[in-house]
Amino acid sequence: MDRTGARDVSIGQATNWSRLRGHNAQREHFEGILAAGRLGHAYLLVGPEGVGKLAFARCLAACLLCPRTDDSTLEACGECQSCKQIAAGSHPDLLEVGLPEGKNVVPISVLVGDGESRGRAGLCYDLSLSPMESDRRVAILDDADHLERDGYSALLKTLEEPPARSVMILVAGSEADIRDTIRSRCQLIRFSSLPTTDVADLLIEIGATDNRTEADEAAGLADGSVATAALMLDPNMRTLRETLYRHLARSPMDPLKMTEEVVAAWESLGSDSHSKRVNATWVARFAIEFYRSVLRVLAGADETSKIPEAASLCSQLAAGDPATLDRIGSMLDRCLDAERDPMANVMLPLALEAFFDDLARRSRIGTD
Ligand SMILES: [Zn+2]
Repeated sequence: MDRTGARDVSIGQATNWSRLRGHNAQREHFEGILAAGRLGHAYLLVGPEGVGKLAFARCLAACLLCPRTDDSTLEACGECQSCKQIAAGSHPDLLEVGLPEGKNVVPISVLVGDGESRGRAGLCYDLSLSPMESDRRVAILDDADHLERDGYSALLKTLEEPPARSVMILVAGSEADIRDTIRSRCQLIRFSSLPTTDVADLLIEIGATDNRTEADEAAGLADGSVATAALMLDPNMRTLRETLYRHLARSPMDPLKMTEEVVAAWESLGSDSHSKRVNATWVARFAIEFYRSVLRVLAGADETSKIPEAASLCSQLAAGDPATLDRIGSMLDRCLDAERDPMANVMLPLALEAFFDDLARRSRIGTD
């Protein structure tokens, strides 16, 4: 597998269906395609990040390359040389590229080579070569929604004139970010989020944690994405969350100190602009989780909060009191605004300070 300089975003190294969670409808769809002998040249797998699209693509590739199973079934034996090579990432007929580590675009060189080797290297060129061991070649282009402009042209050429005995599998988080010219030449396969229990199971399976409670908690914050859940287990992310929760539970709140400590925790999470932006929205999302939990307790829907700091705040507030419910509701609204605010991402830590100031002000309404 020639994954040129790419980050590995796989959810474990599942290359057989037994290790893949969910996505049964998509699997049945491909079973139907193969049973009818109608395998196409290009597929586009789209859906939320971290739900196993890439793992699905690899499982599919294993089925298409395994010499022991015929082309009408969606199975790979898992034992032959081909299957072992796929599991090891070394099958010569399975090509795979994606976003390089820390980059926001897939460079065109990954598709068609660079400098003197332009047109004689890269994924599109490699796919045009004859298969070496199997009877076809399979290319996986992960992060297909992050191509350079020229990259789209190069890819389009391959999609318009697909090499014989080749299958291209594009994987993307957002359908909207794929150009129509590309999308219209692929068969679209949509993926959705995983159930929370599957996410928690997977966290344990891939060794992200061996603690079931931790796994459930992280999965509960992850919107059905294993990648997000794994991020929640990152020690620095936990520090950010716990620092924020500690300050949200304070009465009165101290927005200045809160900004200082939350920003410090946020900065320790990663310095490149992409992760900074992503991590900034987590401050708002954690606060939303916090106040939703407080509201559920105050409204009598939950007996207590699973967030200890939220439980502590609840114990100081009057359950069922309309004014208190209003106040917390207004703070939750402010958090939802912060999550949606595109400026907040570029203005940190100023935006955070304004956000915490507003929260502190709203927390005092009617209590002076
Ligand atoms: Zn096999």
